[in-house]
Amino acid sequence: MPILKPTRRDLFKLAAIAPAFALPAMARADVSGPAGAQAAFHRLTIGQAKITVVSDGFLDLPTTGLGVNADRDEVVAFLTAHYLSTSQHYSHTNHVVIETGDAVVLIDVGSGARFVPTAGRLMANLVSAGIELDAITHVVITHAHPDHIWGIRDDFDEPILPNAEYIIGEAEFAWWMTDGRVNQVPEILQQFAAGAVTALSTEGVDWTMVQDGHEVVSGVRLIHTPGHTLGHMSVMVQSDGSQLLITGDAMTHATINTERPDWVGNNDQEPDLSVTTRKRLLDMAATDRIAVLGYHFPFPGVGHIMREGAAYRFIPALWRWQG
Ligand SMILES: [Zn+2]
Repeated sequence: MPILKPTRRDLFKLAAIAPAFALPAMARADVSGPAGAQAAFHRLTIGQAKITVVSDGFLDLPTTGLGVNADRDEVVAFLTAHYLSTSQHYSHTNHVVIETGDAVVLIDVGSGARFVPTAGRLMANLVSAGIELDAITHVVITHAHPDHIWGIRDDFDEPILPNAEYIIGEAEFAWWMTDGRVNQVPEILQQFAAGAVTALSTEGVDWTMVQDGHEVVSGVRLIHTPGHTLGHMSVMVQSDGSQLLITGDAMTHATINTERPDWVGNNDQEPDLSVTTRKRLLDMAATDRIAVLGYHFPFPGVGHIMREGAAYRFIPALWRWQG
């Protein structure tokens, strides 16, 4: 008897006659696809400030890390209703360069080569975007998670951007650098903690520790947005009456964080505080019509926050052809 090796066509024929083989009637078509090389960066302006969103790649995460304080069935139903995968959380990593006056400010330094193979493309993509690494004058670290700071050093443990001033929230630095922190965090975070200490201790990096409201350069101000981590900073860019709020990881999911701001992710270190902070930022962005840039939103992660009922909705900005 020949071994039955059904082809794809056979399976579809079978599905047509046998209900047990039928694909679910409400199956979601995965319409995502590869972008051209141009998607490695995206340019916009905020008044006089030139903004370039530069990708570090993406993180391939399970959706079990989303809405961990909600009923799992409710999270799955939410994802299904929004045509999102219920298994894979494909998380972009959108870094930002702000060029204003003589300053070239980079927000976060990416994952580097030591975290995951899907990320760590930031430095190459900066070059593709025409941004000289030597020209970067300031590096702001929003928080010390691997996808934001592990790219600080090269294979020889030297800072990749030796000419820049490095800025981080004082509370963020202090939290990770507390003696014995690695042994105090849950096991799953121990690698994060060890990596943060290594990155923050990079020889040749002289940290400027700052507080809420610190002005990096004229028109670029840090806002303490604790919750995801305790010393987390977001960045406000202001020029000629326009504003852009770079949320860092105060928001990590464009759909969930806006429509279900009470749901927290497994990496939100202080869950209640992350909700309070998120709601404060959403209210501010919607009320003052401030553009937002979500570090982990679908590339390039830029758009606006619209109030909808008791919650919000993210309205992505238009991607346009040049000229
Ligand atoms: Zn992150």
